[in-house]
Amino acid sequence: MDGVDVVIVGAGAAGLMTALLTARAGHRVTVLEREPLRPAATVEEAAGRAFRPTAPQIVQPHVLLARYRLLLREHLPDVYAGLVGDGAVESRLEAQLPPTLRDLAPEPADDRYTMLLTRRSTLDRVLDARVRAEPGITLHTGATVRGLRTEGGAPPRVTGVRLGDGELAADVVVDASGRRSRIDAWLTATGARPRPVVVADCGLAYYSRHYRLRGPDGLPGRADNRTILPLDEFVAGMWGADNGTVVLGLCPLAEDHRFRVLRDPAVFTAVFDTVPGLRGWLDVLEPISDVFPMGGLHNTLHRLVDHARPVALGIHAVGDGVCTTNPTLARGLGVALRTALDLVEVLDAHPRDPFARALAHDAAITEGVEPFYLDQARTDAARLARVRGVLHERGVLDGPPPAPAAPPPPAPSTGRVGFDELSAAALFDAALFRTATSVRGMLARPEEVYTDPAVVARVRAVQAAHRDGVPAPAQPDPDRLATALACGA
Ligand SMILES: Cc1cc2nc3c(=O)[nH]c(=O)nc-3n(C[C@H](O)[C@H](O)[C@H](O)COP(=O)(O)OP(=O)(O)OC[C@H]3O[C@@H](n4cnc5c(N)ncnc54)[C@H](O)[C@@H]3O)c2cc1C
Repeated sequence: MDGVDVVIVGAGAAGLMTALLTARAGHRVTVLEREPLRPAATVEEAAGRAFRPTAPQIVQPHVLLARYRLLLREHLPDVYAGLVGDGAVESRLEAQLPPTLRDLAPEPADDRYTMLLTRRSTLDRVLDARVRAEPGITLHTGATVRGLRTEGGAPPRVTGVRLGDGELAADVVVDASGRRSRIDAWLTATGARPRPVVVADCGLAYYSRHYRLRGPDGLPGRADNRTILPLDEFVAGMWGADNGTVVLGLCPLAEDHRFRVLRDPAVFTAVFDTVPGLRGWLDVLEPISDVFPMGGLHNTLHRLVDHARPVALGIHAVGDGVCTTNPTLARGLGVALRTALDLVEVLDAHPRDPFARALAHDAAITEGVEPFYLDQARTDAARLARVRGVLHERGVLDGPPPAPAAPPPPAPSTGRVGFDELSAAALFDAALFRTATSVRGMLARPEEVYTDPAVVARVRAVQAAHRDGVPAPAQPDPDRLATALACGA
């Protein structure tokens, strides 16, 4: 096959993975990145200058889920090896076990559940180095795309991009410019129909801080794991990472303004210290960064095809430009690599037929991305209603009490379980623990698991055997929490 000219807008993880995959499939690739990114000599140098306003999530805690790890190992094995060589930690299933399930007997296929723990900057450093060394890829940094170059027609045919100082022609333009993509404005300017989009509230804000372990002894838990505690009023978490680093995070509702003071390191520490299940980590960690805040988090799914009609031809999207979901579930990089791999497949199948390619890429999103968006939207609606209810009851949020999440959860007798029910039952049952890990790790489609009669029967049996339900995580003492929030400068 003759390769085509591909221009990728954005050198985040999605853009860089797409560049490697498309170049290795025989295409001529140019990546345009607005930030003046430079190679980093060491992982610490990469971490030290990772923050960029156009992609603020890069300094937030990340974990590379099971599905992403498997895809990376299969399709970009040099990136995988580079990442492990740079200190990323494999978190095996036995490291992920809850305290209620310590006696899980290993099974031969357990390797598929392994996650990778790393700072996001370490992944980006490895990707950046591979892209710069790859024949067939030209990377221009400090190059901001301002719009699309098109031929008329309905739908319009994209033939390249517009930069501040000229244009660049392409057979295929890939929007990898992330959650703040300007593609809607660019498409509108060409006369294209708007992209179909669905949005569901995620509701969280992130505050996180990087630390280094003082040593291997006296740890309050396994550092080769990630622990997320959904508390009544906020989420707290600990993410093990590369080279003896750990990221601690606090994620309140964005609308709960009491927590805005968390950007003050003293307040962050004091509030983290109120979390009984995680505070022990503060005793064994040395802070190595400021507190990084991030808001504006939504579940979104964007398509470039509306009722089997592409809104424009010659343009595709990957990564956050297609779908963003609640970051605590860590599905973003899995989506990014899936959408990139799908693009390579459709380019191979339809190199010169942009219409067929648009439909095929969209069909792949329906198959491999939409199920996870829908799962997240439904789970978040229920979680948000619960937390908002608590905050109203405690007088934290003003206004009328929130409406219950719609639609109401199915009654327990129906042939379906929800994510929360499965996760709760998984705490007591090894088979369900693996099933729940498959859903979390994107190894299985959520709805297929929730309606599998064998899974439903097993969850019901566990519920019957544990009528008292799941032991709730110990909650912060309300007076200590109030004092901690008030302790800032
Ligand atoms: C708080 C938080 C925590 C997360 N945790 C996890 C996790 O644990 N695991 C996981 O898998 N995912 C996680 N994610 C999701 C993950 O970070 C994203 O899915 C991933 O960063 C998407 O990468 P991207 O390349 O699509 O976008 P980005 O990383 O945003 O990259 C877009 C790039 O495009 C560039 N750009 C933008 N506009 C232009 C332009 N006009 N011209 C040229 N360049 C442009 C930007 O400068 C940027 O470099 C998390 C997200 C958040 C917000």
